[in-house]
Amino acid sequence: MSLVLAKLLEELTAGRLRVVDLTQSLSPQTPLLPLPPQFNNTPAFKIWELSRYDERGPAWYWNGFETGEHTGTHFDAPIHWVSGKDLPDNSVDRIPPSKFVGPACVINISAEAEKDPNYLLTPERIRQWEEQYGRIPASAWVLLRTDWSKRKDPKDYINLMQDGPHTPGLAKESSAFLAQQRDVLGVGVETVGTDAGQAASFDPPFPNHYLMHGSGKFGLAGLSNLDQLPPTGAIVIAAPLKIVGGSGSPLRVIAITP
Ligand code: MN
Repeated sequence: MSLVLAKLLEELTAGRLRVVDLTQSLSPQTPLLPLPPQFNNTPAFKIWELSRYDERGPAWYWNGFETGEHTGTHFDAPIHWVSGKDLPDNSVDRIPPSKFVGPACVINISAEAEKDPNYLLTPERIRQWEEQYGRIPASAWVLLRTDWSKRKDPKDYINLMQDGPHTPGLAKESSAFLAQQRDVLGVGVETVGTDAGQAASFDPPFPNHYLMHGSGKFGLAGLSNLDQLPPTGAIVIAAPLKIVGGSGSPLRVIAITP
């Protein structure tokens, strides 16, 4: 075995490296992104029992399930957005697996998001982060810590009002900067989607999706436990299901962290 992999196992076994689960639980109660009513919405997660050590299967327990690709903690592929529809390797089954592992840069905007649920990450805030922690490397996941996943009541989590949801996100200048000037893998958020709650009314609508996926970048939505990660130094492993032509998928996201 390579020395690096042997060392990795040793550090994990000794507990000097930890595996942190960045995933929210997936169930029929998992909150969904509410799109304006003229659009098709994602279906909720459904699960049904096939057998449980009974006459339907005497020695085994298993379930069937049905879900939207974008339900719960999930991966967004470039083909998800019209801006990424013609890019090569743009669906989950065709993304090279080397892109499922990358360093994490965690930008903590939880204080800003607490004061203003519509807070948008600004390029100035990114520059400030880089002055403190160094330049965001190519192929990094930029994770937006808002502590939004600590809102356990789906009402508070979606924060839906008459004019739509109110949740934090990124200013479009920040999405453009990260995609084009920093060549990141993508951005990960704790909220139900990688755009701010009010982004349906932005120009272009859902600018983070538009800019990231148009540049071949990915998204991770519905993350949790970002407060357990350092600003730099953790590695994220996020491998979506290999759905043929899939635009995304629910997945288990883990981080290896000191
Ligand atoms: Mn999505």
